[in-house]
Amino acid sequence: MRIFDSHAHYNDERFNGERQSIITEVLSDCVEYILNAGTNINTNNESILLAEAYPQFYASVGIHPHDTAQIIDENKTLDILRRQLTHEKVAAVGEIGLDYHYDFSDRGTQMKWFRLQMELAAEADYPVIVHNREAHGPCMDMVRAFPTVKGIFHSFSGSAETAAELIKRDWYISFSGVVTFKNANRILDVVRSVPAQNMLIETDCPYLAPHPMRGKLNRSDYLCYTAAVIAEAKGMTAEELCEITLNNAKRIYRIK
Ligand SMILES: [Zn+2]
Repeated sequence: MRIFDSHAHYNDERFNGERQSIITEVLSDCVEYILNAGTNINTNNESILLAEAYPQFYASVGIHPHDTAQIIDENKTLDILRRQLTHEKVAAVGEIGLDYHYDFSDRGTQMKWFRLQMELAAEADYPVIVHNREAHGPCMDMVRAFPTVKGIFHSFSGSAETAAELIKRDWYISFSGVVTFKNANRILDVVRSVPAQNMLIETDCPYLAPHPMRGKLNRSDYLCYTAAVIAEAKGMTAEELCEITLNNAKRIYRIK
């Protein structure tokens, strides 16, 4: 089995003290690639450092909706993002988007930075990683406003209809450990509706550890539990699902 963890946060402080040993373990097991997603200028740099330290790691750089309220100098932030984006192991702009569940940043600021970073992705020709929580309508409006930008909706929580429109637009849907939780019936219906060719799998670690590891520190080798549940819903083997989603991730992140 070969796994591409399409969205992880190994820079997170919860990995302090065991980061190196966990990364070494998951990479010596079945995990071939990991995309470490940045969320602000600092974690973007940490993601780039991980990508420099490990050949299997790639990075994304972006400002997460939660972090947009902290931006002081708009032009300076955009300049740094542009520079970070030129690093050879940066594969995407992200994570960007809208979080109307927590509303840690006001919605006008979230929207402004989502748009600015979609413009950045369009001008630099990079895929994007979208974080969407309870903002399906406005997120889809943004996707429609930038028809040349493609990307991934990570830890997908939308409807089968939203997924169908994204697929029609050549976007990818990434599923996390949430599909293994009790009461996952609704999201499993979405899983059944999405062709494997448009699917990615992710941990979003250290968060969202799948059942039966729920509550523990999540890590990329736990994706075998997530893959097993998705594969069963799709009527294929976990090996097949992992192989297809690995190749999907390499395609969207343009990894040779
Ligand atoms: Zn994330």
